[in-house]
Amino acid sequence: MGTLPDSPRDRASEPRHAMETGSIIGRAELFSRVYERVMRHEFDPLAVVIECSHSAVEATVRGRRTILFGTNSYLGLNFHPACIEAAVDASRLSGTGSTASRVASGNTRGHVSLESALAEFYGRRSAIVFSTGFMANLGVISGLARTGDAIFLDEYCHASILDACRSSGAHVELFRHNDANDLARLFARSGVPGSRTIVAVEGVYSVWGDLADLRNLLAVAKKKGAFTIVDEAHGFGIYGAGGRGASEHLGVEDQVDIIVGTFSKSAGVIGGFCVSDLHALRALRIMSRSYLYTASLPPAVVAAAQTAIRLIRFQPELRAAAWRNARALRAGLTELALPIVGGDGPIGSIRMPSVKTGLSFWTELLDRGIYMNLLVPPSTPDKAPVLRFSVSAAHTKAHIEEALHAMAAACSVLNAPKGSSVQSSIPA
Ligand code: PMP
Repeated sequence: MGTLPDSPRDRASEPRHAMETGSIIGRAELFSRVYERVMRHEFDPLAVVIECSHSAVEATVRGRRTILFGTNSYLGLNFHPACIEAAVDASRLSGTGSTASRVASGNTRGHVSLESALAEFYGRRSAIVFSTGFMANLGVISGLARTGDAIFLDEYCHASILDACRSSGAHVELFRHNDANDLARLFARSGVPGSRTIVAVEGVYSVWGDLADLRNLLAVAKKKGAFTIVDEAHGFGIYGAGGRGASEHLGVEDQVDIIVGTFSKSAGVIGGFCVSDLHALRALRIMSRSYLYTASLPPAVVAAAQTAIRLIRFQPELRAAAWRNARALRAGLTELALPIVGGDGPIGSIRMPSVKTGLSFWTELLDRGIYMNLLVPPSTPDKAPVLRFSVSAAHTKAHIEEALHAMAAACSVLNAPKGSSVQSSIPA
């Protein structure tokens, strides 16, 4: 479950007056009271413990076997034998940690080779690997932009994009989700030239799973001569015939100056990256503080990530399985008449009428051995609580049937008379 600020608009909806409290500790106390209200529920939904993992999609949670429909392992690669073997071999050969930044002794042949594999995969001139996707956004955006520049980003962009924009010192504005006209409006009233403006969007939005309207958004940005960044964190491995993401799927890769991504989802490990054709962007290695001043990825992760890229590239059947499973789950949810929002891929969300009902629904599912993500405001795109599901290539037909069975039973919560759902002190 995610209840912590995660998207640009979160700050605006932090506990009332949080930003105006008179002291540092006063603000923390305010958040602590919100957290306490969530924890007063039967068990703490912010701290679900995976007691033991059995596969990419099965784990023991609260002592019972649970099927996971709330991870980002869209291809199941965190348990792929080839990735595990590569990680184990690399640890034995090169040790457990890199123990230094890329610009010190943390730059191994493995890192260089991973970057070559990425550049080749994307058909781009060069790639840079960071230690997480968060750091990739931070490094790229705050590395490139400065005071006097402008950055326009979609209002539903991930926290890492927003934080990167803020820390750059540039003038930051949000445009309405997927609204190319609103982006054009920002350009029209901006005093900053297009050549000093960045437009940042995601390829696939992580909560609803909807695709960015890249064709129209990038057309507006390019018409104004702006620099474009697309975060393909959730599209990498899943969208496009080659698995390169939403920009490949929508045929607009040539309009994107930098693609940012992460290995923590489809690739099943951890680590971030950016790829580009622009020669000057090799300077990001000295312009990005999150590249310069943190330890590089450990050997096991580097080896597993490189293996994952190979699998994503040469085993399209993995991608096909994720889509097949997504279609099967979605068909069942539609039959249950559940209000699904967003796209049609492996990520989706079901609107919950209130936080309290959402919590009851989520608990009912967990009691039946199905884990999904309950997201409550302010971490949701339009402030409505949702149950986010994600489907993996590793799910079986039986997993999906079991999930649909549990969903059907949990639907009673949605139809229950007021006040009969799980008692909770969380306001609706
Ligand atoms: N970008 C997006 C769109 C994300 O959803 C996430 C993680 N949820 C990140 C970046 C950060 O990736 P990482 O977990 O690798 O830091």
